[in-house]
Amino acid sequence: MTNKIIRRCIICGSDHHVPKFTYTWDFLTKVRWSPPDELRLYGWDENSTSTVVECSDCGCFYTRDVIAYPEAASVNELVTDHGGGDSSIENPRLYSRIDAAAWTIRNLIVLAAAGKTRGIKFMDFGAGNGTLCNIARALGVGTVVAYDPFSPPGEQAYRDRNFPGILHTRGLEKATAFGPFDAVACQSVIEHVLDPRETLATIYRLMAPGAYLYINNPYMPLDRELPALQAATKISKRDIISYYHQHHFNYMKPAHFERLAKEVGFTLTPMTYFPPVPFAPGMRMRCTIQHLKSLYRGLQHRLGINYGRQFYILRRE
Ligand SMILES: [Zn+2]
Repeated sequence: MTNKIIRRCIICGSDHHVPKFTYTWDFLTKVRWSPPDELRLYGWDENSTSTVVECSDCGCFYTRDVIAYPEAASVNELVTDHGGGDSSIENPRLYSRIDAAAWTIRNLIVLAAAGKTRGIKFMDFGAGNGTLCNIARALGVGTVVAYDPFSPPGEQAYRDRNFPGILHTRGLEKATAFGPFDAVACQSVIEHVLDPRETLATIYRLMAPGAYLYINNPYMPLDRELPALQAATKISKRDIISYYHQHHFNYMKPAHFERLAKEVGFTLTPMTYFPPVPFAPGMRMRCTIQHLKSLYRGLQHRLGINYGRQFYILRRE
């Protein structure tokens, strides 16, 4: 038996909707690579379905009937791997990804520290395996909090894998007691939560006045990709449409995300997200392209031109 949570529109609260795409057992196990055993642990069975709809009033895509995760510890055990990922730095392709994360966190910390006469407080909201907290520690921040209700249960295991001194908690109350925070990161979270407005509001409450939030909202243009999704017989991890799966509940386009962020009280900043490349022999072309991309994105932000924006730095005034 499955337990469904029925949701209204995550942006406007309307219940007028048009079904767009239905996740089924067959789709998840045969077209996508979801292992049946894992699906069962998350509350699915052969008869379960979960449908992404389009709000008839504001146009936002969201999953209306979410299969509720069981409270069972088994889910938390699963998440140990889910959040862990491959953090091996032996893969040189990961260097640039870690560098991009370091660039983001560095900017966030420099922004948050401007004008401060005391040490700042950093939180990763939905910290997963702790990568961003490690970067904050490496940059010299004293108070670094890894908050994640689904993080691996063993505190010791978490400490063993991360830099010393990171305050790790699965409890929001404990996390709140460490704050308020001057810099918060929230990566790969908002698409997974049942109530994105409440999640953003919670983050807002955790922040000090003048604090900055780095947050990403993956751009999943379902209207454009629906034909490919419906026609797919096999989706691999490399395919762009592999981001359509039962753990993603929210498919906010930039305009929807920006509306939500503003309604919660945040101010959008025009920051861009291309880490610098050294201007060195053999890297001049990459360096030039990177600067041009930064310039182009910066202009788009300042002129308010919409595109598939995924990364934001928001400010709490
Ligand atoms: Zn709506």
